[in-house]
Amino acid sequence: MDFNLSEPEKMLQKMAQDFAAKEVLPRAAEIDRTNQFPADLAKEIGKRGFQGLPYPVAYGGSGAGYVSFVLALEQICQASVSVGAIMAVNTVPEEGIFRFGSEEQKKRLLTPLAQGKWLGGIGFTETETGSDPKAITTTARRSGKGFIINGQKMFMSLAPVLNVVLLFAKNEGEGLNAFIVESKTPGFAVQEVLETMGMRGLGTSIVNLDDVYVPAENLIGNPGQGFEILLEAISVERMSVAMQGVAVAQAALDLALTYARERKVQGKPISRMQVIQQMLAEMAAKIEAARWLVYRVAFIRDQGKSIQYESSMAKVFASEVAVEVTRMAMQVHGSYGTIKSLPLERLYRDAKMTEIYVGISEVHRSIVANKLIG
Ligand SMILES: Cc1cc2nc3c(=O)[nH]c(=O)nc-3n(C[C@H](O)[C@H](O)[C@H](O)COP(=O)(O)OP(=O)(O)OC[C@H]3O[C@@H](n4cnc5c(N)ncnc54)[C@H](O)[C@@H]3O)c2cc1C
Repeated sequence: MDFNLSEPEKMLQKMAQDFAAKEVLPRAAEIDRTNQFPADLAKEIGKRGFQGLPYPVAYGGSGAGYVSFVLALEQICQASVSVGAIMAVNTVPEEGIFRFGSEEQKKRLLTPLAQGKWLGGIGFTETETGSDPKAITTTARRSGKGFIINGQKMFMSLAPVLNVVLLFAKNEGEGLNAFIVESKTPGFAVQEVLETMGMRGLGTSIVNLDDVYVPAENLIGNPGQGFEILLEAISVERMSVAMQGVAVAQAALDLALTYARERKVQGKPISRMQVIQQMLAEMAAKIEAARWLVYRVAFIRDQGKSIQYESSMAKVFASEVAVEVTRMAMQVHGSYGTIKSLPLERLYRDAKMTEIYVGISEVHRSIVANKLIG
């Protein structure tokens, strides 16, 4: 067992830290306030090669691996969870194509995603469900050499800016299918960008699909394999959301430490109070446990193994750490934590999002329990 980062991993971490400090952090409050997608930062993420870290050079990546990916993600999310979430969302079509696509699909569709030239998303959630694949009502009807898709997707992140989306639709007699849909296809229309509480600026939208034609060569995997593809493709995003939880908690602890050293009550810094020290210690211990859980999930993925169980466990744990730590950081800050012009209240809102999106905690607990029980 070796817990040390390699020299290339340390270099990558430093590079991501510099990018986060110089380019992401100064924009975090504005992205949150305006709910505007930071297209320039998304381009920079692509240019720096962060999006392709896990994928082979043959498909536009660098082959550095998933541990490298979460190391970069951690730094960026500490500055802005929304900006880091761009990387997380992109992994879903990347993973879907990488794990289930043909050689031709990997070359044609994964390469521009891994190179950061395209943005990709996932279209699963609908008005009736975000958790139950059986309740999906979007249809894919065979027509000529392809499929015609009709339906509506809710909460599709990056929708106004993405090039492709891994979209799930039902075909009578075949079950759930996974398609790569190009956003420029006629009939693909963003109805509304949603004003979410946290994770703002991610372009999370309602999307209408009105007779959208998808060529057969964009069907990923086999007909009816959609559910299997969903579970596998989304597991890397789940691991990434767990890392978002770690990062938002770390950012809150850093703020709480600075505040506790500076804020004086009865002439003494509040960091001298035992009650504050207890909170700070608990926050640090929880963050450290969550961080190493996520690193381990990435390590397992680097061995080429499935992380469906491990990523669920990490997401439940790290997202709850995020909520708990930001709550404690708010308590340390007193009223000042609640002021909108200071960063803590944004972290508090973003932390809650990690418990909800990419599968609610209850579903992830069920996945873990099912594996335990067998
Ligand atoms: C900012 C943001 C971005 C998002 N981006 C995307 C995206 O890009 N693509 C996409 O497809 N979706 C996206 N989503 C949707 C998100 O992943 C789903 O909304 C989420 O998984 C929860 O689904 P739901 O809201 O339908 O909850 P529901 O399934 O309706 O669940 C509601 C509640 O019922 C309970 N419950 C439900 N099922 C179970 C169960 N099996 N066991 C126990 N309790 C249960 C839980 O308490 C749960 O909180 C996004 C959401 C947000 C907020």
